Amino acid sequence: MTAPKFLCDRCDGTGERFDRRCHTCKGRGGWSTSPEARAKAAKAAKVRRIRAAQEQNRSNPGLYMAVVRNSAQSDFLKSLRTADARGEAWTTFQRNAARQIIDAKGLA
Ligand SMILES: [Zn+2]
Repeated sequence: MTAPKFLCDRCDGTGERFDRRCHTCKGRGGWSTSPEARAKAAKAAKVRRIRAAQEQNRSNPGLYMAVVRNSAQSDFLKSLRTADARGEAWTTFQRNAARQIIDAKGLA
């Protein structure tokens, strides 16, 4: 492994803190990429995660649209919309619960 070009500011490049492996740099003492490049990559990864979650929530368009249309009728459906906006994928349990609420209330 080549020596890191950018030293870790948590352990000052030693790779250790409190006699343990530095958690921030995983004991490497730093990175070969600049903080700006890492921040940019982290942001891009976050955008990808959010897009993937929202795509997954829309994979059943019928259910997704029913949740959107009826979110004013139920706090739970509203919470699913909030989760979707935050980029959280709905779990199978949440999807089933949403379907049950929509059916039980006679919503469509
Ligand atoms: Zn470190």
